[in-house]
Amino acid sequence: MSVYLSIVLPVYNEAGNLVALSAEIARMLDALGKTAEVILVDDGSADASYAVIKEIAAKDARFRGLRFGRNFGQTAALSAGINASSGEFIALLDADGQNDPADIPRLLKKADEGYDVVSGWRRDRKDAFFTRTLPSRAANWLIGRVTGVKIHDYGCTLKIYRRDCLASFKIYGEMHRFLAAFAGGMGARIAELEVNHRPRVSGKSKVGLERTAKVLLDLATVKFMGQYLSKPIYLFGGWGLVCGFLSALLAAVTLYNKFHNHIYVKDQPLFIVAIFLGLVSVQMILLGLLSEIVTRIYYEMNDRPPYVVREKTGTESHV
Ligand code: UDP
Ligand code: MG
Repeated sequence: MSVYLSIVLPVYNEAGNLVALSAEIARMLDALGKTAEVILVDDGSADASYAVIKEIAAKDARFRGLRFGRNFGQTAALSAGINASSGEFIALLDADGQNDPADIPRLLKKADEGYDVVSGWRRDRKDAFFTRTLPSRAANWLIGRVTGVKIHDYGCTLKIYRRDCLASFKIYGEMHRFLAAFAGGMGARIAELEVNHRPRVSGKSKVGLERTAKVLLDLATVKFMGQYLSKPIYLFGGWGLVCGFLSALLAAVTLYNKFHNHIYVKDQPLFIVAIFLGLVSVQMILLGLLSEIVTRIYYEMNDRPPYVVREKTGTESHV
């Protein structure tokens, strides 16, 4: 039997939230009337979370659990859940009860209209303003600018993805935040709907301000992976050529000063800059060539084409 909807929840020390949340999910699924599975991924919790997950799974066959050997982080938990799932649509949801499962049917309906990603937007966010909401607004603005995928709330876990649009890449580090941006970079059609956001009732948040730095570094990776992974020499070689051109220009100025204005080369600091830029230029071009080799290995080892086919038409003929 094929599954229509998989719901994946990352769980880290959320024992106090799971029972109420899973009851809410079960009610929502009853009303939805589609085949569904719920996968709870225990990310190495130190509390009773896994025992609670086992109880929930024993009572309701739609619920399943898996448990990590230690805490690997929210991104790892989400990708383990996604890998274990089989639904046509995948909904990601926080296990702390801050996302409202009752929003899922609305998001699904939107996805059914032909969208690959439907992103939740916590317009009225129930988190501390200065440490959470404000940095997150700045991050959302920046991610939108850099990736060109304009949605309001990257950080909101509650989003629905069509399975095929998650199949073409893997996520590492803290990259779950960029799933929509990755999918958008591959040509996914993205819609956005406002969702309910609730204060945390039990347990505490696992993130603080330090994640801003991680987001910035991840953003650089995302930009590179999205735009230059199949042609890294365009990035490095491009800058290499710019440095090489400037170096040649400054060397020419030095020669002109030497022979026309009769200034000794040792009295021309620009000559040092020319040498420096020349070295940087060679390094950049070599780095570009090396990354070409590396990305070729990346694509060929994974047997993964550097493009995504959305649809096909016409009959294939084998003459
Ligand atoms: N989480 C996880 N592993 C971690 C940290 C968090 O699986 O190392 C889960 C956590 O249990 C919750 C979700 O990720 O379900 C979001 O975490 P949190 O509520 O701390 O983030 P916030 O909502 O405050 O951004
Ligand atoms: Mg939370």
